[in-house]
Amino acid sequence: MKYYILFGPPGAGKGTQATYMVEKYNLHHISTGALLRKEIAAGTELGILAKSLIEKGCLVPDEVVEGMIESEFKTVTGVKGFLLDGFPRTLPQAEALDKILAKTGTEVTATVSIMIPDEMIMERIKGRALKEGRADDASEEIINTRITTYHDQTEPLIEYYIKAGKYNEIDGTGTIEEVKDRIFSVMDKF
Ligand code: ADP
Repeated sequence: MKYYILFGPPGAGKGTQATYMVEKYNLHHISTGALLRKEIAAGTELGILAKSLIEKGCLVPDEVVEGMIESEFKTVTGVKGFLLDGFPRTLPQAEALDKILAKTGTEVTATVSIMIPDEMIMERIKGRALKEGRADDASEEIINTRITTYHDQTEPLIEYYIKAGKYNEIDGTGTIEEVKDRIFSVMDKF
């Protein structure tokens, strides 16, 4: 089993690129954001908690997403691996992921990081808001909080995966096709 992490700031195009990656490499896509939005739509207790945090641009507690990830690993079969999108997003989540994988004698295969400048984050999320209508894409203030959250809590993971020798960064600017080709040329090495 391969375990790929799709990393990058909000709006980098992770969701878009994930659909191509799962198809080409026979992976199961796990988007913690999408799983949380499903809980919100179903009105579960977890969904109610997640909604209040997501709508402010904050992260949900580490234990919540860690539990979701572990249960996906246990229940999904028939694929060559998993593509983690939006997880890990904090250092404790990265450490928890290593522990979860170690239980079955596995480890993270590689991190593919899609990088775009902050100005582009705002522009892309605003474009997406028109199409998808996500509550956390609705205001500039929430988007700014998410950008700050990304820099403070998620960006330190770059160092973590560089140290582990698992970090691969690609330029996320340009067309969807161009970014896809850059990602595929990294993925082909693993
Ligand atoms: P984006 O890539 O635009 O930030 P996501 O769909 O990945 O969007 O996530 C939406 C929101 O869901 C995040 O802003 C956060 O509140 C919550 N979320 C998603 N993944 C995690 C995670 N691993 N840890 C904590 N919160 C998360």
